[in-house]
Order: sequence, then structure tokens, then C-alpha cells
Amino acid sequence: MPTACREGRPGVSNVATAFPISFEFFPTKTPEGAAKHVQVRKDLYARQPEFCSVTYGAGGSTQAGTFSMVRDIQAEGMQAACHFSCIGATSEKVRSELQQLKDMGVKRIMALRGDLPSGYGLGGEFHYASDLVAFIRKEFGDWFHIEVAAYPETHPQAKSPDADLRAFATKIQAGANSAITQYFYNADAYLRFVEGIQALGVSVPVVPGIMPITNSSQLMRFSDATGAEIPRWIRLRLQAYGDDVASIRAFGLDVVARLCEQLRANGAPGLHFYTMNQSAFTLELCDRLGL
Ligand code: FAD
Repeated sequence: MPTACREGRPGVSNVATAFPISFEFFPTKTPEGAAKHVQVRKDLYARQPEFCSVTYGAGGSTQAGTFSMVRDIQAEGMQAACHFSCIGATSEKVRSELQQLKDMGVKRIMALRGDLPSGYGLGGEFHYASDLVAFIRKEFGDWFHIEVAAYPETHPQAKSPDADLRAFATKIQAGANSAITQYFYNADAYLRFVEGIQALGVSVPVVPGIMPITNSSQLMRFSDATGAEIPRWIRLRLQAYGDDVASIRAFGLDVVARLCEQLRANGAPGLHFYTMNQSAFTLELCDRLGL
């Protein structure tokens, strides 16, 4: 089995440190939601994540909402990573927003292409995430640690799995430091992806993105949109549980905990949890994993 580049994760010593974990949030939409989320973050900080990231422009959220949560996380003494998508943006806007993040003391960016509504094509100054990575390095040198997205099951718009691997390598060659994956429930897809990029001479840490299983219709919707596969055996089980939320949750914890253990045992350099802005599932998962 290939290992997933455990050595050399920037900023992480290999000497008996805790296994690196990170948490992902999305911007809250209401003052009530923001107030509630303070406690969610506090509960999760107790697990000593390496950083907490905030999505940008996903699900109709605004840049202001992202920056505001990033500011809160920094003010709470935690390292924030800001997701940043470039599709449809001008270089002037990108430069000015990145400067704002630098002025806020943000050191970590998740550099993304993002998605435009269908029919917009690839207009604008940035066509791919690799263009954004190159721009950040040109304009801001080494100020930012740059993460990029990885797709163990292949990005849905890729011409082929090999073309997608090459596109990933281009992002690293443009200056990205590490990657976080789209979620998946098949450890082999991840291990093969790592093997594939290693064959192209790429050896940055690729951290698996871990999606909870708590709500089957939401998960099916996400998976249809992102191309992340839900294996048939999981789908059938979820369907059989119907509205039995407790059984879905217990099953989901088992499946996801086992996946995390498999990934760790095979050299994953860390785990990045998509919290869905809730703490309970992720905390229980961390308990099971001894994190
Ligand atoms: P790219 O790496 O640019 O790839 C996009 C497609 O273009 C791929 O099919 C690739 O194979 C192809 N490609 C790349 N370079 C070339 C080239 N030179 N020639 C031809 N084809 C090429 N979206 C948001 O809007 N906000 C977020 O906060 C957000 N966070 C995310 C976090 C993670 C961990 C992940 C995995 C995804 C996230 N996304 C987010 C979704 C992401 O924006 C979409 O998946 C988007 O469709 C692709 O973005 P990318 O950065 O991976 O694009």
C-alpha cells in the first residue's frame, strides 16, 4: 500500500506530536446562527486542531460572511484557513481580498477554482485553481501556506482520471504546499490517488476530507452535486433506516470511524473533518478515534 506522505508536513514535527486534525465550517447566515456557532467552535477547539477552515462562496454564502468567521476564529486564538475561489473574479479583486486576509494575520489559504452557475463557461482572468496558486505566489511570496483540493474519485468535470491527476500536479508545481480531499467512503480510491500523484513526482501531504453520515437525503444531494460516490451497500442501508435518525447516526459513526482508522493505518498524514457546523458527530468520532 502506498503511504500518503506522512513525512514533511510543513509546520508539523514528526516527533511524537498529536495526530494532526482540522475542522471545516461554513459561514453562518443569521446572528442567532453565529451566536450558536461560538459554542460549536469552543467544543471543537478542545480537540486541539491544527487549524479551522471556513468555506467561501459555497451554498450562496458571501465573502463577508467568510471573512467575518475567519476573523472570529483568529480572535479566539485558533489558526484560521480561508477558502478562496477565483472563478469569475478579476485579479484586482483577488489581490485586494488576499491583502485583507494578510492584514488580518491569516497565513493559510485553501485555493480553489470554485463553480459558476452552468452556462457561464470559463470566462474571467482565472480559469483553474492552478492560476490562483501561481498568482498568490507571485503577489504574496511565501506569506500563505496554500492548500488545494484533491479528488480521489476524480473531479466530475475532468476529461479523465489521468488528466485530473496531472491537473492536481500542476497546482502543486504552481506552488501549493498541501491538499485536502473531497470526501469519499472508499479508502482504496484515496490510496490509489496518492500512488498516482507520487508516480508523477508529487509528494505533498494529501489529507482526507471526512464527511459525517447523519442525514441520508442531505448526503445523497451532496454526492449528486460533487460526484463523491456513496457505495451501494451504504446507500441501501441508509434507505432501509428511513426516518430512524438514531440508527442512521449509529451506522454513520461506525462507517466513518472505520474509514478513518483505515486511512490512518495506511499513512494518511492527518484528517480534515467537514463538521457541517455541528460538533456532536465530530466529537464522538474523535472520541472513537482517540483524538
Ligand atoms: P481545479 O483544480 O481548477 O480543477 C477543476 C477542473 O478543471 C478539474 O476537472 C480539473 O481536472 C480541470 N483542470 C484543472 N486544470 C486544468 C487544465 N490546465 N486544463 C484542463 N483542465 C484542467 N467550492 C467553493 O465554492 N467554496 C469552497 O469553500 C469550497 N471548498 C472546497 C474544499 C474542498 C476540500 C474541496 C475538495 C472542494 C471545495 N469546493 C469549494 C468545491 C470546488 O470549488 C469545486 O470542486 C470546483 O468545481 C473545482 O475547484 P478546484 O479548485 O478543485 O478546481
